[in-house]
Amino acid sequence: MALHSSRSVTYSPAYTIVPTYECFNRCTYCNFRSEPGKSPWMSLEAAERILQQLQSQKICEILILSGEVHPHSSRRQAWFQRIYDLCDLALAMGFLPHTNAGPLSLAEMEKLKDVNVSMGLMLEQLTPTLLNTVHRHAPSKLPEVRMQQLEWAGELQIPFTTGLLLGIGETVDDCWETLTAISNVHERYHHIQEVILQPHSPGNQQSFDAPPFDPHQLPAVIAKAREILPADITIQIPPNLVKDAGWLLACLAAGARDLGGIGPKDEVNPDYPHVQEEALREILQPAGWELVPRLPVYPQFDDWLGGELALGVKRWRENLTPQPPSLLGKGECRDVL
Ligand code: SF4
Repeated sequence: MALHSSRSVTYSPAYTIVPTYECFNRCTYCNFRSEPGKSPWMSLEAAERILQQLQSQKICEILILSGEVHPHSSRRQAWFQRIYDLCDLALAMGFLPHTNAGPLSLAEMEKLKDVNVSMGLMLEQLTPTLLNTVHRHAPSKLPEVRMQQLEWAGELQIPFTTGLLLGIGETVDDCWETLTAISNVHERYHHIQEVILQPHSPGNQQSFDAPPFDPHQLPAVIAKAREILPADITIQIPPNLVKDAGWLLACLAAGARDLGGIGPKDEVNPDYPHVQEEALREILQPAGWELVPRLPVYPQFDDWLGGELALGVKRWRENLTPQPPSLLGKGECRDVL
């Protein structure tokens, strides 16, 4: 991809808004979820207060990351509407929303497309053996349900981020199979912008009793992923889960080129604080890597966006703080890809 020089590594200056932590799935490695009904939903007023504070900071992306209300629940429609309204609010306040809220119906996905510059869902691993272990009580983790999401995103022309969770009981061949499935769906629709390779990193809340994915194996997985995936898909790794600077650099040498959203908190891995921009630069620059901010939508997808989304992206690409005008100059996100 001619997005950046071969010595550039991108990241997205981001803030995560969680509409709710409640989730009807119970993945045993989860450090995010609350029981259904036990996590108050974020109000629009609370979100607006947060977003107002962010307008004076260098933040482009609002990641709307939600636990899931069951598709057949009487609360599903209200849950979906809250997510839609939060995206709409973020967009109106000049940010670029990216939603990851688990599997959606085709109609839900189509509606969210109007208020998101891109969307995401981790494929994790496609092997059905995990349905007997970590996903025994997680209906949303049915492999065919998740593949369907990638298909629908392609049909709807939604720029999409997906990825693998490594070290949850899969074999090496399972990983290659999952990467091949991503590659195949991308060859049909050309809509996958990034694939995240996320090493399992145990946290305080999970019940899954397994060691972390060995970071020493990550460069080899990245190198193989680079062989399997088409060249226009960027490989992303979360730097807070690759703690050793030497191994982070090894991951870049193996082909990773993006460090994902960097913000105050990693909501999925709350025990692993994000490494902030300056600390990352101190690791990367001596090794000859340039850290470059990017938007949550890659440039090759700009013409898939309509109306307000296209305008918002155009403003960010021109290095302007979208709004309000009184903040121009304070919240600039310069040299944004
Ligand atoms: S990993 Fe996601 S789907 Fe699984 S329980 Fe946690 S929030 Fe729910």
